[in-house]
Amino acid sequence: MRYVPDHYDLFECLGGECEHSCCLGGWEVDIDEETYRKYQEIKGNLGDRLRHETEDVEEDGEVFHTFRLRHDTCPFFNEEGLCDIQKSEGEKALCTICREFPRYTIPFGRDEERTLTLSCEEAARLLFTKQDKDTMVPYEGPEYEEGDSFAETDEGEELLSPSDLEIIRRRAIALLQDRWLTIDERIIRYLAYCRELQAKINAGESDLTGEVRADREELPSEKQEAEADAPLPADFDFSGLFSGSLGSSAFDTASVPEEEQENDEAEAPTLLRFREMTFDMAPVTEEEMKTYYDERLAILETMEVLGEEWQTLLDQLKRWDGGIFHEGKRLSPLRRFMRDKTCSLEREMAWEHLMVYYTVRYFPRALYDGDLLGKAEFAVFLLMCLRDIELLTYLKNSEERKDRPAKEWWTLSDRIEVVRIFTRQVEHSDGNVEAIFEELLFADCGRAEALIRQVRH
Ligand code: SF4
Repeated sequence: MRYVPDHYDLFECLGGECEHSCCLGGWEVDIDEETYRKYQEIKGNLGDRLRHETEDVEEDGEVFHTFRLRHDTCPFFNEEGLCDIQKSEGEKALCTICREFPRYTIPFGRDEERTLTLSCEEAARLLFTKQDKDTMVPYEGPEYEEGDSFAETDEGEELLSPSDLEIIRRRAIALLQDRWLTIDERIIRYLAYCRELQAKINAGESDLTGEVRADREELPSEKQEAEADAPLPADFDFSGLFSGSLGSSAFDTASVPEEEQENDEAEAPTLLRFREMTFDMAPVTEEEMKTYYDERLAILETMEVLGEEWQTLLDQLKRWDGGIFHEGKRLSPLRRFMRDKTCSLEREMAWEHLMVYYTVRYFPRALYDGDLLGKAEFAVFLLMCLRDIELLTYLKNSEERKDRPAKEWWTLSDRIEVVRIFTRQVEHSDGNVEAIFEELLFADCGRAEALIRQVRH
């Protein structure tokens, strides 16, 4: 089966209207072999240009064909903001990457999933203007082809069962989309749940999904009902999260009224217990915040820089002290920003969509390494990096737009812009994604407990 987010078919390329076209900005296009061979046979002026404007580039011992960029622009991008190849030969003549972008294919067991990458401003606009919960739905479009250069490939032996992982992912997404709670609370529950599951995986437990295991045979046809169909066991105990480094008797379930402890059948007592536990956590200190900020920055600096926009942003982040610390007795800029009602509603929705996007996209990797918690930590780490960039942008805007109403200091365009730049930098290089995963194995700021403290600011 194939699945896509329910807004997938609404996507339409903006073409010449696009402000940050993927034909500009130094994108290196890997022309697939089949298209490259076709280009060699095209006659006339376009054929001559195609042969003249492509070159072979060697990277890590592999040679690939690409277009020669002029001032970071594709040579076939014309004055109308359109593509000369498509205009002359039709969409079919485009190489796979140009034809598919911003669609991205992720194999997941026997299924194939597609998503719209958020480095495209229109794909980002579609997601961030959506009020409904993001849901995966069956898709009838063209099939993923083995060797398709714009698709992730699977990586060998599966260590987890795809149907178990699917159920786990649906539950994780349901936690993220539980709108009775604030997004911070939802992310904490998501991390708690994944940590619990990881402990089971590490202990070699075969029953990872509990009572919904029986529905695994019916899974494909039900996948689209993700949020309604994947309840956590009513007695799921979040207190495990607070053992170890965050441990404190204050988090003990004994502090919850007896009648709530007795009612294990309903969800509400679990939520109440959870709320009480998180409420009692010691607040994160300014010193910790500074350490976490420096660590995040050090990790971002290990990536290969893919564009000038990112370099500029990174330099600003480096010059800035994080802006998250107390100024005397006043609230720190981060806390002011997080409590600013003009942007907090937007953030609740946008962070939900982002976390679901990261979960859909990166959880399938756990099939091959069994590291489910690592994927959840990766997702929340990316969100914390985005929060730094959001805050930096908000502070800059509050200076530059100080004559305008405060609600204009953080807008939908700002959201699309920061996510677009960040996504391109991180997700359009396997090397950069791997570099972050690698760094997070050793960095304190990427552990679930530390992430919870960062989320709670
Ligand atoms: S970035 Fe998206 S909307 Fe803009 S030209 Fe590329 S595919 Fe079209």
